[in-house]
Amino acid sequence: MGERTVIALGGNAISPASGAGTAGEQTANVWRTMVQVADLVAEGRTELVLTHGNGPQVGNVLIKNELARDVVPPVPLDWCVAQTQATLGFTIANTLVHELGLRGHHQPVVPVISRVLVDRDDRAFGAPSKPIGPYLDDDAEVARRQAEGLDFVRVGDRGWRRVVPSPQPRASLDRAAVELLLDHGAIVVANGGGGIPVVDDHDGPMHGIEAVIDKDLAGGLLAAEIGAAVFAILTDVAGVAIGFGTPDQRWLTDVTLAELREHQAAGEFTVGSMGPKVDAACRYVERTGGLAVIATLDAAVAAVHGTAGTRVRP
Ligand code: ADP
Ligand code: MG
Repeated sequence: MGERTVIALGGNAISPASGAGTAGEQTANVWRTMVQVADLVAEGRTELVLTHGNGPQVGNVLIKNELARDVVPPVPLDWCVAQTQATLGFTIANTLVHELGLRGHHQPVVPVISRVLVDRDDRAFGAPSKPIGPYLDDDAEVARRQAEGLDFVRVGDRGWRRVVPSPQPRASLDRAAVELLLDHGAIVVANGGGGIPVVDDHDGPMHGIEAVIDKDLAGGLLAAEIGAAVFAILTDVAGVAIGFGTPDQRWLTDVTLAELREHQAAGEFTVGSMGPKVDAACRYVERTGGLAVIATLDAAVAAVHGTAGTRVRP
């Protein structure tokens, strides 16, 4: 087969809101997905890059930041992303290597701590929109943190939630490392959690910035940059629906780029969940002419074969 494939795994599927979020539980969820990934690799899809969400995981690091702020200095958001890339990358590598071994297949799996360049002039910095961390109901605490420069939005009666800018990913800065590893026969985990957002002020090393890049957009960017033939986004629903959640709901199977853009313009896809997946799929197909698939995690193998989920073609 020898085709490069990029698979994006949903963070919510790894640590669902309904679960306890323990390391053991997250490992079991990752492992279940790696069973399917190993099947794909064993059948010949060896040029593989995995990426993953990290929303629930970063949320937990932020809670620790707050609870321990008088004991150890809170870490910035770029450090939070780097930490979750490491723990999820380790968990993916550890379970995937095991599953590959069971199939008599020996291929290194290498997590890459990856940075993604964003533009300091990105409009997103003027309009923080990405909710992160826990819901807060203490108005005084929210006021204190607003005074420290953080932004919050009120989410119905669930309380306040911090919002950060979600700028566009411009370039996967560790792409050369990813390609080097692929060329030498490794499976790579990269751009996890959308990548560590960094800006280049041309005054020394690039620096991390308080922002969150959408993981589907960062995964799609990397898929285009490395010329992947397939970009699969695996999540907790069967694919892309029209009239989602209404009596007229209809799952899309095969769609063209133009059709999907039309549905998007008609407001079918929720901002922050299905919206960025559709956007990521469209941008990737536009740039490469490849196949983008949005499907449920449980159908990973069929999704990559283009026989499950929503398939997007030029
Ligand atoms: P992930 O963690 O995989 O990124 P998200 O929660 O961000 O998952 O996005 C998947 C969710 O998008 C689904 O669980 C579903 O509730 C929601 N969604 C919103 N609009 C649609 C739509 N038109 N079709 C399918 N799912 C949709
Ligand atoms: Mg998401």
